[in-house]
Amino acid sequence: MTRIVYVNGAYKRYEEAAVHVEDRGFQFADAIYEVIEVLDGRLVDATRHLARLARSLRELRIPAPMSDAALMLIIDQVIRRNRVRYGIVYMQVTRGAGPRDFALPPAGTPPTLVVLARSQRKGWSAVLAETGIGVKTIPENRWGRCDIKTVMLLPAVLAKDEARENGAKEAWFVDAQGNVTEGASSNAWIVTADGTLVTHPLDPQILPGVTRATVMDAAKLEGLKIEERAFSKAEALRSREAFVTSATNIVMPVVTIDGVPVGDGKPGPLAHRLRLRFHHVAEISAG
Ligand code: PMP
Repeated sequence: MTRIVYVNGAYKRYEEAAVHVEDRGFQFADAIYEVIEVLDGRLVDATRHLARLARSLRELRIPAPMSDAALMLIIDQVIRRNRVRYGIVYMQVTRGAGPRDFALPPAGTPPTLVVLARSQRKGWSAVLAETGIGVKTIPENRWGRCDIKTVMLLPAVLAKDEARENGAKEAWFVDAQGNVTEGASSNAWIVTADGTLVTHPLDPQILPGVTRATVMDAAKLEGLKIEERAFSKAEALRSREAFVTSATNIVMPVVTIDGVPVGDGKPGPLAHRLRLRFHHVAEISAG
């Protein structure tokens, strides 16, 4: 449950927390966000998440609302005030409010900052990982800068709904070349017959997942081979394992693609190993 939300300098009760009706996040999706996992009251990979937040802001030329140190203090307060031990912190920065106009607002318009935290059942994703998930492929229909974590998430929302209608938990976007770019809210991976991990290279087609980066660190420490290259749905169906990564799911095995089993149709051993290693390799903030 979320009790308290930080909005533009004040801690508000959840029911009363609000932004301006002419906020540019609301009108133009002129906003970026981050989601950080909270593990036993501590932040997982905060440095990487804040670095990506700063990069998203720079790419859109939205001024940073405050220093990383100040933001960390607010995040800490929001976690405490909501008594979150296991869950997530969500933060969003918009270009601020003003009379609706495509032109950017005058310099000095303060960005909007919202920080909220929410508890989740401890270990829920571990339970889901025991059976794995299905994914549904969807033609890529997002914009050309998926490397920026904007709140422009309508294609992802619709893709996930189509996945749900087809009994799948996640959607995989497939580009015009027939390659899987990433999930609607996760990065996509396969494990080839010889045990090599394959995931799409970092480019404007995908979000540079923080979990992707930390899973890569874990895989290197485990002595696994990694190839950053595109793969097709056909290759994914021929692979030994598939999985997705995100701050909320960590490493989640994919057991079917469009209803067809991957490998033996069960969660794979490498996904399991990387999942178990993840929090030993990730940066865990001092609590
Ligand atoms: N790709 C997309 C499109 C996402 O929305 C997300 C999660 N927000 C990810 C990848 C995974 O990123 P992260 O590991 O940083 O959560």
